[in-house]
Amino acid sequence: MKTKVDIIIVGSGIAGCALAWQWLLQGKSVLMIADANKGSSAVAAGVYNPTILKRFTSVWKADDQLEVLNDFYPRIESLLSAKFLHPIDILRRFHDEREIKTWIKKSGKEDLKDFMSPEAVTYENQAILAPFDYGKVSGTGWVDTLGYMQLTRDYLQSKSSYRMESFDFKELSHHKDHIVYKDTVAPKIIFAEGFQMLSNPFFKNLPLQGNKGEVFTIKVPDLHLDYIIKSSVFLMPYTDDLFWVGATYNNDDLSDAPTEEAKEFLTSRLERFLKLPYEIVEHNYGIRPTTKDRRPFVGAHQQFKNYLVFNGMGSRAVLMAPWAAQQLFDSIYLNKPLDPEIDIQRCNEES
Ligand SMILES: Cc1cc2nc3c(=O)[nH]c(=O)nc-3n(C[C@H](O)[C@H](O)[C@H](O)COP(=O)(O)OP(=O)(O)OC[C@H]3O[C@@H](n4cnc5c(N)ncnc54)[C@H](O)[C@@H]3O)c2cc1C
Repeated sequence: MKTKVDIIIVGSGIAGCALAWQWLLQGKSVLMIADANKGSSAVAAGVYNPTILKRFTSVWKADDQLEVLNDFYPRIESLLSAKFLHPIDILRRFHDEREIKTWIKKSGKEDLKDFMSPEAVTYENQAILAPFDYGKVSGTGWVDTLGYMQLTRDYLQSKSSYRMESFDFKELSHHKDHIVYKDTVAPKIIFAEGFQMLSNPFFKNLPLQGNKGEVFTIKVPDLHLDYIIKSSVFLMPYTDDLFWVGATYNNDDLSDAPTEEAKEFLTSRLERFLKLPYEIVEHNYGIRPTTKDRRPFVGAHQQFKNYLVFNGMGSRAVLMAPWAAQQLFDSIYLNKPLDPEIDIQRCNEES
């Protein structure tokens, strides 16, 4: 006798959790399968930010994604009686007068005016050196991703909807209108495997790229921050006297270890503006699943239509995944076409 569910999800990172909740909140049943590997979600700071603070531009579909985010996480919080969404403004530390001029000009643009302060703002904090002041970004914040993912797994486990195991492709079979995995039948299965997707026999040819990121958790007993500070690196208040500092971006070195080079980068950039002594409590790293066009990989396999992929969240999973999960859900149940920019069909067309 087989168990029936509405969807099987492989992966319990930010992407897999977004899918699970999208289905659960619509009254569908889920089976999540995930191994014990720590994906990149385990090291993410969880910051969401509708702007790109290097170039002062907006994120693709920022308004739509933010609208979904601000509905999605609070609904889960209330269902679980938990708190993991933490709205907090970001202060972009200016490096010179030229940046201030560019900021003021850009902040008047239609897609940015709701997020960027129209002028430079001052923030009196003796611990932070900022001779050129800041630009303030609103609509931003962070999600306690570790808490969110753990509570999601616990919730699924309590409903017997979670299995910790390495997915065994030999146990998977495709049928016209369903799939079978071991003792479970479902109309479809979605792979949300992060960078491990490159070992998936059905999706390994998608051009997913790895980008290694390294971060610190630091302890600064006398630092009080009312904002996330963004300079060459982010400094984000976490809990008590712990702060998050990151991140690095490296396409070339995907080695499975923290590096001295990243340590040197993070400390040197941090010390350009943090005037207090600090202790590095943790030095973590992960591989971001990125795509060349910075759009996620969503959609069905060309031949095996009931096998789907949900990946390529890059450095913006917290903001992107709830919106993209909704897109995928609507394409399956409401027959709405996927946004062509996220549909993996675009990769088939290229080849
Ligand atoms: C240093 C760093 C900082 C970051 N900061 C942020 C940030 O502040 N905000 C933000 O939005 N994003 C951030 N990111 C990006 C974010 O972490 C990624 O976009 C996100 O983690 C991708 O999530 P995912 O669920 O696709 O993959 P992963 O987190 O890698 O999860 C993949 C899951 O699949 C499972 N899995 C894979 N293959 C199998 C298999 N065969 N069988 C069973 N299970 C399997 C793994 O166990 C894991 O649960 C950061 C990334 C890094 C590296």
